[in-house]
Amino acid sequence: MPADLLSLEDALACILERSKPLSSEVVPLDRAFGRVVAEPPLARADLPPFPSSAMDGFAVRGAETPGTLPVSLRVAAGSPPTGPLESGSAAAIATGAAVPEGADTIVPVEQAVEENSQVRIAEPARANAHIRPRGGDVREGALVVAAGVRIGPAQIGALSAAGVPEIRCFRRPRVSVLATGDELRAPGEMLEPGQIFESNRLTIAAVLAASGAEIDLLPVVRDEEAAQRAALERGLAADVLVSSGGVSMGPHDLVRRVAGALGVIEVFWGVAVKPGKPLSFGVRDDVLVFGLPGNPVSSLVASLVFVRPALLALQGLAEPAPRFQSGRTQITLRRSAQRDEFVRARRTADDEGILLQPVTGQESHMIVRAASADALVHVPRGEGEIAAGDAVRYLDLA
Ligand code: AMP
Ligand code: MG
Repeated sequence: MPADLLSLEDALACILERSKPLSSEVVPLDRAFGRVVAEPPLARADLPPFPSSAMDGFAVRGAETPGTLPVSLRVAAGSPPTGPLESGSAAAIATGAAVPEGADTIVPVEQAVEENSQVRIAEPARANAHIRPRGGDVREGALVVAAGVRIGPAQIGALSAAGVPEIRCFRRPRVSVLATGDELRAPGEMLEPGQIFESNRLTIAAVLAASGAEIDLLPVVRDEEAAQRAALERGLAADVLVSSGGVSMGPHDLVRRVAGALGVIEVFWGVAVKPGKPLSFGVRDDVLVFGLPGNPVSSLVASLVFVRPALLALQGLAEPAPRFQSGRTQITLRRSAQRDEFVRARRTADDEGILLQPVTGQESHMIVRAASADALVHVPRGEGEIAAGDAVRYLDLA
């Protein structure tokens, strides 16, 4: 590996070291989806709050079955039983209704025949069958979701069921996204000779919004010092500034110099990762500053591999590092001795798991080819090849 380039792992470690959780705020439950828990919420009641029936059926004493019993009570969900179950009788009961005192089992309707307020039960009923004990899911005062966990659909359900109306979550990072380049025109505009359509701002914004950030999309900036100075200064008002382009070796690559003049201290420049090599990372006070390479696939990969983990760490997520999944490559992959590579691939499945087929067109400007992929296969630096059929790790692109 070239001495001046940082390895993937070292670069990530450098970034995560400087990505400490932001402050927290109280978020109402109906706005909490996708947020990360800062202070673990506790259950406001036992769940279930009372022993309840898991079936529509009849609450009885198991010892009094089999047999025919008069139906002395009818209990619906939401209306507690009017009294205990008299011995020698049954209570018709609905799913979710409170089990009357005295009953120790539920006979499902499918195993009973009711006629003229008498219920015939043919088989002996096992004690405690189909009764959900009080607090069987969670006890009042117990933890519902741990700190550092992102609130997904199941957590929203758990918090609701446990009666938690609001949660203290980490603040979402505000991220400024800008692109540099004299050649860039907005989609929909006319291209003059030498111009291309600008694609990185919205690509980066999409990755970062999906990572929980609030995006401030800044205009495209020309390769001109004063303009870049103004744009970067504005972007530095956020928690994270992400720029694209202008971080390579060319005479028009001004971003690093301008950022430096604005007080950004560069932590590293250059990673042994393809695509994405000229990535720059710095800080100004608490603001993280990423200079992503301009090639569209480099911008996409660098935002997924390097910026996203920083945003997850700022949100207090317990495990912010990229989450690789396992699959097998369908073709032989040559490893580079110098650099880790991220190969765009299409994913299918067979009986043994996920198969990954690299798409044609792996150059770093080929964003349309990348768009036909849904996985980013990690090919670690090293000698030799990864043979077809061998295990690889990948990140979700979709
Ligand atoms: P740079 O990193 O500025 O040297 O740009 C590298 C390559 O990416 C050049 O071919 C640029 O034209 C292209 N490029 C830079 N920024 C963008 C952008 N925002 N959208 C699309 N292509 C870009
Ligand atoms: Mg440029």
